[in-house]
Amino acid sequence: MDKKCSSVGIIGAGIQGVCTGLQLIKKGIPVTVFDKNEPGTMASYGNAGHFSPYAVLQLNRPDIIYDVPKMLMSSYGPLALKWNYIPKMIPWIIKYLKSSTKKSMLHTAKYMHQILDLSLDAYDEIFKEIDISNLVERKGIIYIWTNKNLKSRNLEIKVRQDLGVKQKLLSKDEILDLEPNLNPVFDGGAFYDYAYHARDPRGILLKIFELFRSKGGEFIKTNVKELRQTGYNETQIITDKKKYNFEKIVLACGAFSKKFTDQLGEKIPLDTERGYHVHFENMENLIKRPVIFLDRGFGMTPMNQGLRAVGTVELGGLKNPISKKRIDYIVKCSKELLPQLKEHKDEWLGFRPTLPDFLPVIGPSLKNTNIIYAFGHQHLGWTLGAITGKIVSGIVANENTNLDLKPYSSSRFN
Ligand SMILES: Cc1cc2nc3c(=O)[nH]c(=O)nc-3n(C[C@H](O)[C@H](O)[C@H](O)COP(=O)(O)OP(=O)(O)OC[C@H]3O[C@@H](n4cnc5c(N)ncnc54)[C@H](O)[C@@H]3O)c2cc1C
Repeated sequence: MDKKCSSVGIIGAGIQGVCTGLQLIKKGIPVTVFDKNEPGTMASYGNAGHFSPYAVLQLNRPDIIYDVPKMLMSSYGPLALKWNYIPKMIPWIIKYLKSSTKKSMLHTAKYMHQILDLSLDAYDEIFKEIDISNLVERKGIIYIWTNKNLKSRNLEIKVRQDLGVKQKLLSKDEILDLEPNLNPVFDGGAFYDYAYHARDPRGILLKIFELFRSKGGEFIKTNVKELRQTGYNETQIITDKKKYNFEKIVLACGAFSKKFTDQLGEKIPLDTERGYHVHFENMENLIKRPVIFLDRGFGMTPMNQGLRAVGTVELGGLKNPISKKRIDYIVKCSKELLPQLKEHKDEWLGFRPTLPDFLPVIGPSLKNTNIIYAFGHQHLGWTLGAITGKIVSGIVANENTNLDLKPYSSSRFN
């Protein structure tokens, strides 16, 4: 039998890092999580809070790529570019276009489904151990659309059907029965009545983090500069001030992970899809559950901070400033659906970590097998936090699994 792993350092206290830390501590493996910020302050804070196990289809689809140039030319569309970032993004865009065939789309859907299907059970296990009152709602999630892009909607419905994903199609009136305050500017939609939503994603993450700490997990708030595999069973995390040795490292820095994989000599085309949110304070009771308007690429979630309006995809890297036009777009879309909304606050920009084939990278580094990757969960990283924690902790502990993990390996880019 393999000797039990003696120590693990995790870089990143987002939802992937914290859930992985918890699962490792539960296996009796000593863990230290490093983050330059407090836990849960980046994408895992500002997301839309959907636990969406049905969302198997991503943006690498043949039906979408033909619309991309038109969407990019419009400053009031769901997709935008920071033009100064295009030269840096060209390799990613080329790989994205290559991954937008029907075959690649179905491959992504199949392997997203494999882990999404386990995602709620993995959270439910954790929720048994923490107090989630006023943090998690089980009222489902509604998607709405107009008849303009029915071809794309039908494709999504078919792919989900083929994979056995439960979905309920709704007429406009059925949607209005569920959410009577919505302005009826849509024609139909789908209801995933088994989905959950977070009323406070960071609040949930902090509860999981507290559980991790209560079981003996360590946390060090510091900027990590470098990681290395220094020996057969020795890795090193190098911070601004100190070097720390562990048997294994988990890299869970979300969109910021590329700096480290570059250092390790692996060419992984991780980039970011920037997304935004604002809050409409005291307006959260206008809807009972998240509503996503697919034509607009935006949605609204009732949260404790207010009604959170979230969305758009902006390709522009990690360093460009917030785009006022993106905020204006989200505010305009929100008022289209709920004209009673007035002032907004908290203009926030976050970074979805995205690979061109829209599958995450989960598994050992190719050259340094004691460094395990756990990043690139794009639009679904919140949903996939708990199951990623289970999978990655299993990899660290050399456990067998029935899952086919090969499709998530970084070897697909090398
Ligand atoms: C607008 C928006 C809406 C979204 N909505 C949803 C949704 O409804 N449902 C869903 O499932 N997903 C959603 N997502 C996606 C989801 O939020 C992300 O995929 C997920 O939060 C990523 O988690 P993570 O732990 O990988 O990264 P993060 O939460 O970004 O955490 C990475 C951590 O690494 C730390 N770090 C980075 N560099 C260093 C360093 N050098 N040293 C130390 N620490 C470092 C950061 O400080 C950070 O805490 C959304 C994302 C956005 C942006």
